[in-house]
Amino acid sequence: MQVARLLQSYLDGETDEITARRVAAHLKDCRRCGLEASVYREIHNALARRVEPDAGAVQRLRAFGESLMNPAAGDDGGGGESATPPAGA
Ligand SMILES: [Zn+2]
Repeated sequence: MQVARLLQSYLDGETDEITARRVAAHLKDCRRCGLEASVYREIHNALARRVEPDAGAVQRLRAFGESLMNPAAGDDGGGGESATPPAGA
């Protein structure tokens, strides 16, 4: 399940209801995606407030992306999920 790819659309409320439910359900089951979603949400909220994303959140997102590179604990079956950090200029 390519949840990572859907996360931003989901958090933007751009997914349809069925997809949103699937994503929400997966976030409960999948700790990694849940963590990623929480980080995206922080950044998303920061952007919504037109302020700089929290430096700590950006750092965590980077660390999360790096952790995906190292398939040590692949609870997603090592799928093609790729973390794409929001461009911070
Ligand atoms: Zn997942």
